[in-house]
Amino acid sequence: MTESNQKEMNAILLDGKETSNAIKVEIAKEVEEITKSGRRAPHLAAILVGEDGASKTYVKNKELACQRVGFASTLLRLDATTSEEDVLAKIREINANDAIDGLIVQLPLPAHISENKVTQTIDPTKDVDGFHDVNVGKLTKGEDTFISATPFGIIQLLERYNIDTSGKHCVVVGRSNIVGRPMSILMSRNGNPGNCTVTVCHSRTQNLADFTRAADIVIVALGKPEFLTGDMVKPGATVIDVGISRVDADNERGYVLKGDVHFESCEKVASAITPVPGGVGPMTIIGLMQNTLKSYKLRHG
Ligand code: NDP
Repeated sequence: MTESNQKEMNAILLDGKETSNAIKVEIAKEVEEITKSGRRAPHLAAILVGEDGASKTYVKNKELACQRVGFASTLLRLDATTSEEDVLAKIREINANDAIDGLIVQLPLPAHISENKVTQTIDPTKDVDGFHDVNVGKLTKGEDTFISATPFGIIQLLERYNIDTSGKHCVVVGRSNIVGRPMSILMSRNGNPGNCTVTVCHSRTQNLADFTRAADIVIVALGKPEFLTGDMVKPGATVIDVGISRVDADNERGYVLKGDVHFESCEKVASAITPVPGGVGPMTIIGLMQNTLKSYKLRHG
């Protein structure tokens, strides 16, 4: 987005890039203090199975983020034909390695590998993606845990921009285990941000626009480019766009990234809105860094 575009905007831009950079500086400072005192830096390990283009980009961005905050990182690349048992064995190896604080396995996995088995094999104390049942259970009960990175990032964006959520009606579109479901739990929790009255919409919801039009906060996570249009948004609402889809385009890369929100029409109606790219994406990565630091501190005090 150009500067002139920003000036013409009606809604406040919830800038995930700027916010995540500010958090990055805070983490880097903490890591510097840790290493200055002679202790090792926090360490994140990632397993990537196969050659999926988007997954490779995500993992690369996570490695770069580790470098920027001063974490150690290890990337284990496994061939797409690696057996499920071999992937699980690698996870157990990393679980047992005291020099590693966090472990993520990039999803999606090849069809012959069970996502559930993989996520449940990761030691819950190293599960910085927050996908293990123990951590999901704690989140549901409102206990301290690793909140999965995307919902964690969104919560922090709302907090840092002082978006008032208490008593508001929040509509979450999407009920996946990694975004929609945990997001709806967090927005309804007794805390800040939170204390919303939450409606969860999904592919069976009828008259979906009636719900989004009634929402003070709309969080859209369905993976359908530009699904939410301005006529589906209540004037003054906060709009959070989680979606990232590659849409074919006549450019060098052959695609452009699109969110689930039709930005141009929604920003005219909303009071605050996240862009894609530069909104929820960078906040997700920083959430992962924060979870890794948290794991390190829980391990080393
Ligand atoms: P899933 O495909 O797992 O879930 C999509 C959800 O949207 C489902 O609950 C589905 O309903 C619902 N849905 C699908 N179509 C409709 C429809 N027409 N109307 C209403 N609801 C619908 O996706 P994810 O949650 O994993 O991801 C969603 C998007 O967010 C994707 O674009 C993904 O790339 C992006 N993403 C971005 C991240 C980031 O860092 N910014 C991180 C993670 C995801 P049902 O349950 O009925 O099938």
